[in-house]
Amino acid sequence: MNIWTKLLCMLLTVACLGFLSGSFVQAESPMIPKSGTPVSVENWEYHWGQFPMDEEGNFQWERGGNYEGIHNDIWISSIITLNPPHRGARNVIWYRVQLPPTQWSDPSLNIQVHGKFRIYSEKKLIYQFGDFSKEGTPYQGNAPRIVPLPTDSMGKMLYVEIHSDSKNIGFNPYPTLASHSEIILDLLKKQSDRLIIGCFYILTGMISLSSYFRLRIKPFFTFGLFGIFFGIYTICRTTIINFFYDSPLLWADVELAALVGGMASVIAFLVQMFGEDRPQDRALNVLWKLHLIFAVVTIPFIRVHTLQLDEVMFVYHIFMLASLLVLNVYVAVMAYQKNRDAQIVLLGTLFFSLMGVIDFFNHLFPQNMVIFSISYLGMVVFLFSLIGVLIRRTVDMIARLRNSEKLSLVGQLAAGIAHEVRNPLTIISGNLQLMQQKGYSEETSQLMLSEIKRINSILNEFLYLAKPNSPKLEVNNLMEVLNDVVYLFQSQVMNPPIQIIVTATDKVLLVKCDPNQLKKVFVNLLRNAVEAMPDGGKIRIVVRKLKVNVIMEFIDEGTGIAASNLKRLNEPFYTTKEGGTGLGLSISRKIIEEHQGKLQLESELNHGTIVKIVLPLARKIMIS
Ligand code: ADP
Ligand code: MG
Repeated sequence: MNIWTKLLCMLLTVACLGFLSGSFVQAESPMIPKSGTPVSVENWEYHWGQFPMDEEGNFQWERGGNYEGIHNDIWISSIITLNPPHRGARNVIWYRVQLPPTQWSDPSLNIQVHGKFRIYSEKKLIYQFGDFSKEGTPYQGNAPRIVPLPTDSMGKMLYVEIHSDSKNIGFNPYPTLASHSEIILDLLKKQSDRLIIGCFYILTGMISLSSYFRLRIKPFFTFGLFGIFFGIYTICRTTIINFFYDSPLLWADVELAALVGGMASVIAFLVQMFGEDRPQDRALNVLWKLHLIFAVVTIPFIRVHTLQLDEVMFVYHIFMLASLLVLNVYVAVMAYQKNRDAQIVLLGTLFFSLMGVIDFFNHLFPQNMVIFSISYLGMVVFLFSLIGVLIRRTVDMIARLRNSEKLSLVGQLAAGIAHEVRNPLTIISGNLQLMQQKGYSEETSQLMLSEIKRINSILNEFLYLAKPNSPKLEVNNLMEVLNDVVYLFQSQVMNPPIQIIVTATDKVLLVKCDPNQLKKVFVNLLRNAVEAMPDGGKIRIVVRKLKVNVIMEFIDEGTGIAASNLKRLNEPFYTTKEGGTGLGLSISRKIIEEHQGKLQLESELNHGTIVKIVLPLARKIMIS
């Protein structure tokens, strides 16, 4: 696990804990009484425009503001707390409400205001958010402000003064009143699911990115970016992110950037998955770049307050909806042509578009906060559809790779055979010509016969390699099989002398095996060891019993193998010997693998070689 994965896991854990504490602590804990649950503050009255001030800068509350005859009353009772009618060109609105008389130890108001604002209790300023020393009100987002209220403000009239230059002015319905800790718990409970989903997206994206860096398959890259961007987007949309770093303005910008980045990467991803350089593919390649250009052009202007973020968001949502429509058509055409991947993605893009539409209406009518959660479902379905096609593609690729590996093995074998058989054939044909010219000779025909035998043995060994037969396995004593072979070697007079020493932890080691096949392996290994020691020496065979396996080591003091050649030993026909077939090791490995075992070589040049075989021991049940 790298540092980022660990960090993400930590974040996930924190989010889960938040979620749990939100759901359970409140219900279970005796520390926080039920009566503490937040109450929603309703029955607001509003008043367009600023109150006039006297010379000392105090508002002249009784005289009323510049409401310019729209209504006869100064205060209009309304259930609308965001963008009430008759705004005209005004960028200031006042709201007021009679607070309930309930007593809280630390009463706080959770309010999400669009714009900068000040709160007064009984005509006294008690809270301020945003910079009132400057004219104009850059968009402040609508993060929840948890406004501490003086205990004596309860039961009295609360005034909220809001300034906003942008499309939205007012606050989200309805602010809640409770003790400070209650409000935080309530927010955690409502939003930690989004935090978890966001972390999940980021984690998925990072896994995909790291896969890209290993496999270099492009869609993994764009999908990774998509996951990370949408994770950030989802997390920025939680207002509890402000508990970690309180800057709604910054989070709102990051939210837009992440949304645009996510859109661009998902379009690029689809082109990589389905593109074939048709006109529509080229069009989509232009489209994702347009999204990036949009971000690069607008975000700096939002930062310097030339553009209002919620208006840019609104325009971007229209652009996004249009792009989603294009994407749906693009994928639907291929889905119609019975492309299974496209059919899966179509399901996702349709859900994703649904999310886009819902978001668009949320921006159009910010009052309809209730349907927010559905949009996250759309995202999840979309993400899973993309993961689905990515997995399908990867599986396809692995299957193709396997096939080509097999093909190349067959090719290697064929080339090896051609090479091996050509040498003896050249000798035979040369000798035949010689006989034609000089007549029959006993010596020449012997030579030809031995070359024909050689071809025969090569073909036999090769056929063994190519045959898909599985050996007939029966429980046998491995030590007996080994000793037979060792005895055979020891009984031959060898020049130079070779000593074979067997050490074993047990006299009886039962394995499920085909004794003749295993003998073939041991003969191969011993012959290689002998051939590696032209001046004679010792061969040690060490047999150890472990829990479920038996390990055999064939240790020689021969020439060894250079590290650069060690890898090539897996290739059939690789040999360094004149007259060698280069098939001995390949066949031995194949036999051991058919016995569910493993064969490994360790070697050091001029020091010797260790061939290690691991075989599974037969289980007791099988013996009885
Ligand atoms: P062959 O013995 O016909 O060459 P093998 O498959 O048995 O084919 O071995 C392939 C090559 O591996 C040998 O040519 C040799 O270079 C190397 N080799 C195998 N076993 C040993 C060993 N014990 N010591 C040194 N080299 C070895
Ligand atoms: Mg050999």
